[in-house]
Amino acid sequence: MKIKCPICHEITNWEGNPFRPFCSERCKLIDLGEWLTEGYSISEPVLEGEDKEGSEEIISEK
Ligand SMILES: [Zn+2]
Repeated sequence: MKIKCPICHEITNWEGNPFRPFCSERCKLIDLGEWLTEGYSISEPVLEGEDKEGSEEIISEK
C-alpha cells in the first residue's frame, strides 16, 4: 500500500513506515511544527547567492 505524504507529497510505503502518514521523520516534525509555529514554510530556505559572476569582470578600459 502506498500513501502520499501530506507534507512533501512524496509517494511512500504505508507498511513498515514508522512515520506514517508521513514519508519521514522530517515531514512528521514539519507537521508538528506547523501548528506550533504559525505560517511555517516547508520550502527550503533560499540561499542568498553571491553574485560572483560579474563582480570579477571589471574590464579596464584600454
Ligand atoms: Zn514527506
